[in-house]
Amino acid sequence: MTVSAPVNDCLFCKIVAGEIPGQIVHTTERSIAFRDINPQAPTHVLVVPREHHENVGELGAADPAGLADLVAAAGEVARLEGLAGYRLIFNTGRAGGQTVFHAHGHVLGGKNLDEHLA
Ligand code: 5GP
Repeated sequence: MTVSAPVNDCLFCKIVAGEIPGQIVHTTERSIAFRDINPQAPTHVLVVPREHHENVGELGAADPAGLADLVAAAGEVARLEGLAGYRLIFNTGRAGGQTVFHAHGHVLGGKNLDEHLA
């Protein structure tokens, strides 16, 4: 496993390090999952790699096992939250709606998936 240092001004690195509080719902060796501060669905959990990667594409290229862990962690979050189904969304790049530049997947669920969630 590659190890990258936390990036000083990165919000999610600070949540991973425990420097900023997060409502953590699940952790693995490589990933942590915490509730979004501004939920867009009854369940809205962010799953992030502990290592800093700017977006999901960079995570997948640099650490495929880390991406696999993140996706598996998202499934475990859905199970823990009792979701019958869920969306896993990766906004990528400013033009793709990404506002925090530490890779993260949004786990959204808790209402019918045929409704618009995000
Ligand atoms: P993005 O737009 O980059 O895909 O998603 C960033 C997400 O981070 C947003 O849904 C936003 O509500 C969430 N967020 C921003 N600041 C904080 C924070 O301090 N704590 C938590 N838990 N979520 C945050």
